[in-house]
Amino acid sequence: MLTEDFHPDTTLDKLGEECGIFGGFARSGNVKEIIRKGLFKLQHRGQESAGISCGEETQTLVKAKGLVMQALEDSAIEKAEGRFGVGHVRYSTQGGSSAVNAQPYLIRYMNEHVAIAHNGNVEKAMKIREKFEKIGEVFITNSDSEVLLKRIVFGLKKPPSQWTFEEIGTCLGDDFSNGAFSLALALPKRVVAYRDPVGYRPLFVCEAKEGCFIASEDIAFTGLNIEKVIEIMPGEGVEITENGYCIKRFYGQKKECKCVFEHIYFSHPASNIFGRNVYMTRVELGKTLAETDSIDADIVVPVVDSGIAAAIGYAQKSGIPFHTGLIRNHWVGRSFISPTQETRVNKVREKLLIVRPLIEGKKVLLIDDSLVRGTTSKEIVTMLKKAGAKEVHFRLSSPMLLNTCLWGVDIPTTQELIAAVYKEEKEIAKAIGADSVKYLTLQSLKDTFGQTGWCYRCFEAQKTKDENPQSKTLALTK
Ligand code: AMP
Repeated sequence: MLTEDFHPDTTLDKLGEECGIFGGFARSGNVKEIIRKGLFKLQHRGQESAGISCGEETQTLVKAKGLVMQALEDSAIEKAEGRFGVGHVRYSTQGGSSAVNAQPYLIRYMNEHVAIAHNGNVEKAMKIREKFEKIGEVFITNSDSEVLLKRIVFGLKKPPSQWTFEEIGTCLGDDFSNGAFSLALALPKRVVAYRDPVGYRPLFVCEAKEGCFIASEDIAFTGLNIEKVIEIMPGEGVEITENGYCIKRFYGQKKECKCVFEHIYFSHPASNIFGRNVYMTRVELGKTLAETDSIDADIVVPVVDSGIAAAIGYAQKSGIPFHTGLIRNHWVGRSFISPTQETRVNKVREKLLIVRPLIEGKKVLLIDDSLVRGTTSKEIVTMLKKAGAKEVHFRLSSPMLLNTCLWGVDIPTTQELIAAVYKEEKEIAKAIGADSVKYLTLQSLKDTFGQTGWCYRCFEAQKTKDENPQSKTLALTK
């Protein structure tokens, strides 16, 4: 063991990552096309970079900034061959978007190749990195995923072909058992994958006619001739060879802490994550929201695309007609990760188009999955009012976001979270220019998912005094 103590708040690597992974073994002789197709279906989990590392004894790595179909275009992956491999789509936060951080990471150790693809955030990564640096180890990236790989190498000190599933699992469990990781390693003629012992991030294995594969979400296997899909449980992993796959436990049972935000926002609506369908869950949250609301509106409008399922649920329960009064231009990039408030606002204006006849003179009930900084919502409310809406009432199918995420979802500092700053629904409504704002309560969320077994950290107020915002400092640029 490299470390003795656990202080998640102080030891976090600040480079958060929400990502998607795909990997496995293809009987056909070449896994790259299957990995590329899988990553394409996981594109919503990361749009900054994409990569594949594949081979047999040795591997070829292809990775670049951009979307899957750009970064991994035909000419780029031409030279990648082999039946075993891992792939990655990446969405970093705080300044970590440079090409060097694109995954997978491929290393040569004792004349053999190992590649890692990682989704999640591991606490203590910085602390462990510092310990390595003190003994002269160097790092190429500033990602915690490289720390994970180095920790395994350091723990095993023998050729990767001799690393057993259990030995790798012990290295991960010893130092990162409180962290979030769903990760896969491509080794000589083998792929192994692990889900952290509390189960923050999802991980699946698929047996198909074409071979055996792992992925962050089950929808990534669509298109394969699927025979079986199994969700890997927390503390378990899978070993894939040319003879098939074997699911094994690598660490003892811990109290589960699955990320509830995977259902609220992050995962694809068609996915079945942590035993529940994401779309159906969002519809249910919308219905629950309507049950506790008494607003008399003319039309329910979702903030596309993330608010659609909840808005359908709300409309079904309340009887208020549902219309897509906002339509998204799918060719504009993401607004949320733009670097400044001004560019974020401009992106929202370019991204959303209003169907005026649906909105003019109406009391509009706008539904979104979550309110983070308030940038999107303020702009949408303004646009709807300009388009002639009589009133705009904003509803959220999740509770107030009051805290940052330590485990890989890009939720900014508490000082940037509109709910942490303004605290009251009335004040938040004023800040975004809406006639009213109403959130799903944390109790309702817990009633839907369960009191235990889930991570609700981002919806719970921060406990340490000094990190609470002292004043209303949020700048909602006009
Ligand atoms: P904001 O305008 O800053 O309040 O952002 C709210 C919008 O961002 C909502 O439409 C959410 O669906 C979306 N969103 C929530 N969490 C995230 C996240 N971690 N990354 C990207 N977008 C998000």
